[in-house]
Amino acid sequence: MKKRIIVLGAPGAGKGTQARNLALHFNAEHISTGEMLREHVKNNTLVGESIQYLIDVGKLAPDELVLGLVVNKILNGNYVLDGYPRNLKQAETLHEICKKMGEPIDGVVLVNVSDNVIIERISGRLVCPDCGKMFHYIYYPSKKGLDCDNCEGRLETRKDDKAATVKDRLAVYHETTQPVVEFYRDMNLLKTVDGTGQMSEITQNIISALE
Ligand code: AMP
Repeated sequence: MKKRIIVLGAPGAGKGTQARNLALHFNAEHISTGEMLREHVKNNTLVGESIQYLIDVGKLAPDELVLGLVVNKILNGNYVLDGYPRNLKQAETLHEICKKMGEPIDGVVLVNVSDNVIIERISGRLVCPDCGKMFHYIYYPSKKGLDCDNCEGRLETRKDDKAATVKDRLAVYHETTQPVVEFYRDMNLLKTVDGTGQMSEITQNIISALE
């Protein structure tokens, strides 16, 4: 059965990891706008050059640009969106597109984690630049040290995971993305799941909430 799911959460709440797990579970495509944008930066494309600074300082990329990346991906109607929508305008645009396609969103999950825990988590976060798998020095280390235990890529720290930038990203989240949470709450689509604890347990709780 096709599934159209949105995973919301502050930066570092674990939405990327959970979105990946959900995509596997529901046999759907994992669509991460952050990953797509970082890929453009890595490949020095025109899009990448135009948004690198915004990503580095934790600000949002332009709505039209991100929409262009997302639209093609959602056409087969079987996806888990991670990092989109990020503001009210994006949420309304997505809602209109899904309505026109006759394929509404099935469920929205908010992975809920307090700001203090987020700052602690992000300061130890590592990412594989090749496959996107996330790790943490203490809480979730790679079985292969500083190499990815999925694809053996060399793990690195995201540039926008520096303490000052994390605070800015959290501020953007509270000001700009929180209204998206309310948008889906008003539509009776929102499920809130505690994002602290064992990763697999959180995934299970999300799946139960969605089913
Ligand atoms: P993420 O990996 O989801 O934390 O995203 C990393 C960065 O990519 C964000 O801080 C933004 O600069 C940019 N970004 C990701 N998704 C969006 C979006 N939907 N709209 C605008 N900018 C985005």
